[in-house]
Amino acid sequence: MSFAEKLIDRIAADGGWPVDRYFEASNNHYYATRDPMGAQGDFTTAPEISQMFGELVGAALADCWHRAGSPADAIYVELGPGRGSLAADAMKVLRSVGFAGGVHLIETSPALRKLQAERLPGALFHDDLDGLPAKPILLVANEFFDALPVRQRIGEEERMVVAKKGRLTFAPEFGDIIEIAPARAAAAQKLAHHLGDHGGAALIIDYGYGAGETGDTLQAVKGHEQVDALAHPGEADLTAHVDFAALAAAALGEGLSVTRMISQGNWLETLGLGARAMTLAAKNPERSEEIAGQRRRLAEEMGQIFKVIGLHHPGWPAPAGLPEMPA
Ligand code: SAH
Repeated sequence: MSFAEKLIDRIAADGGWPVDRYFEASNNHYYATRDPMGAQGDFTTAPEISQMFGELVGAALADCWHRAGSPADAIYVELGPGRGSLAADAMKVLRSVGFAGGVHLIETSPALRKLQAERLPGALFHDDLDGLPAKPILLVANEFFDALPVRQRIGEEERMVVAKKGRLTFAPEFGDIIEIAPARAAAAQKLAHHLGDHGGAALIIDYGYGAGETGDTLQAVKGHEQVDALAHPGEADLTAHVDFAALAAAALGEGLSVTRMISQGNWLETLGLGARAMTLAAKNPERSEEIAGQRRRLAEEMGQIFKVIGLHHPGWPAPAGLPEMPA
């Protein structure tokens, strides 16, 4: 019996599951069993488009660490590192300025841990933020929070995933949907706690919105196409848009400082994406068009859909390029 058939049987036996339970079970199987990224996979993330993305993230963290007085005990932390490309590119820059701290990767997928360990020899793995040592962190999460499950409500009613004749449907199917994300709130809380207790800064980059938006943002992607979220359990990537206001609120509640949310494109251009693209193209003239295209994708296309926010201990500087929120 396939994973999907087993899942449908379990949902039928239970008389239905809340959306977040389905989302979690599907994504756990999905990520545990494959490398989902790249042309042959299901989707492409910013660090897989170009090394420039990870380099600029690394430069922002390196600058922040330097301005904090280069604390020797600080560590690099990444949530959901995928193939490890972002961490590898960021660490190149961090090492070049003398950062000697450890690399801590929070990843649940055995398949992806294997790829990450190859890219980052010596990295330490954790199942979640609880496992981190009591040290200041330079943290990045790119497309991590969107992979954590959301619940959906219609009015006061929990929206369920139910099995009918061997197929999954939503119940209720229609109505004004409100999403909430307890799993994200829990991760944000732990992150904020760690920053508050031990210091450091975090960059969160994702699809998402600032405030006040509601509605159904659950999406499934397979082979670079949008598909029905219930049609391929465990075989399509499920995401939902991130409520950045909720992340900011969790951080402010822990006494942290929070920057404004800006688009990935604006942020990367402020950090010098254009200059980096020109340097790379000058060194690799045969790739200059490809590099210009990568810059466009990072800054203009996904660059307008994706957003960035910085969270930091009040004793640490805000990461470069992110305007401080007025108090
Ligand atoms: N940051 C990477 C990959 C994004 S895909 C990039 O930009 O390319 C989402 C990543 O989060 C994958 O590595 C996936 O295995 C991981 N992940 C998903 N849910 C997780 C969870 N609950 N705990 C830890 N890692 C998780």
